[in-house]
Amino acid sequence: MGGWGEGGMGRGGRQGRQGRQGRQGRQGRRKDKLPLPPAPCPLPPAPLSPLSPLSPTPPLPPSPMPIAPINSFSNIRLIATDMDGTLTQQGKFTSALLQALENLAAVGIKVVIVTGRSAGWVSGLSSLMPIAGAIAENGGIFYSSNSQTVALTPIPDLVAHRQHLAAAFAQLQTHFPQIRESADNRFRITDWTFDVASLTSGELLSLSNLCQQLNWGFTYSNVQCHIKPLGQDKAVGLLQVLREYFPGYSPQQVVTVGDSPNDESLFDQRYFPVSVGVANVMEYANQLQHQPVYITTASEGAGFCELSNYLLQTVKIRNNT
Ligand SMILES: [Mg+2]
Repeated sequence: MGGWGEGGMGRGGRQGRQGRQGRQGRQGRRKDKLPLPPAPCPLPPAPLSPLSPLSPTPPLPPSPMPIAPINSFSNIRLIATDMDGTLTQQGKFTSALLQALENLAAVGIKVVIVTGRSAGWVSGLSSLMPIAGAIAENGGIFYSSNSQTVALTPIPDLVAHRQHLAAAFAQLQTHFPQIRESADNRFRITDWTFDVASLTSGELLSLSNLCQQLNWGFTYSNVQCHIKPLGQDKAVGLLQVLREYFPGYSPQQVVTVGDSPNDESLFDQRYFPVSVGVANVMEYANQLQHQPVYITTASEGAGFCELSNYLLQTVKIRNNT
């Protein structure tokens, strides 16, 4: 098993990747559903069975199962997961989700949240949930479970940085006067957000290109658009956190989970061989450069609970053999 090597995944190495988003070929990618029924957790124990191929959903062609699933999931010791649309259900945490997190912690499977939410928001969240830590601002800052704060993207002069981001946003507004700064922007350190609202995929691509011209990165989720430092993304931040704070975990022991374009770096199999999309990720199937290896049957938080239940079953089977 390999470790979390730098492997060319430095901040500079990913520059411009978001700008390419949506322009790459999508054909030939493989998708496989987790075999669990679409029900809220906790699900009753069910035998693990071979993954069934995903129903043909344009533009993705039907494909056979690429990886033996039980082997893939039986090693998992850490879940790195997006939050909005992945842990939440219609914008809220459910009691089932909190129970799933408790159940995972009880068997020693750690959960690290990797979200685009602001530093201020995640700082509070990380100490309130049964998780091992949380990464905010799409890879900008890490909050450990013992309240340690780590700048994954160092910002030497915060005032100047915020001014530069504000100027970039003003530039974007000259092309798209309808865009509005998000309410959580005042709680941010590394990036600048505006509401994704009614922007079309073509307009999002134009915004990405404009940011590139201004020497900024760009990404978006189902919630917001982010103007961000070049090279800052969820994968880069997570790899740094895994190397420094979870050095005992190999790539095969980590599963990444998400639902949106700002999660696509977490689906890059060069770094994360086991990845899962909750079912609503299919909304963005033709906008992702990297796609998850597996897709849950259920959407949003219920999809995460489905995965959680699957992992808990593998632990049970392992302990009984
Ligand atoms: Mg999301």
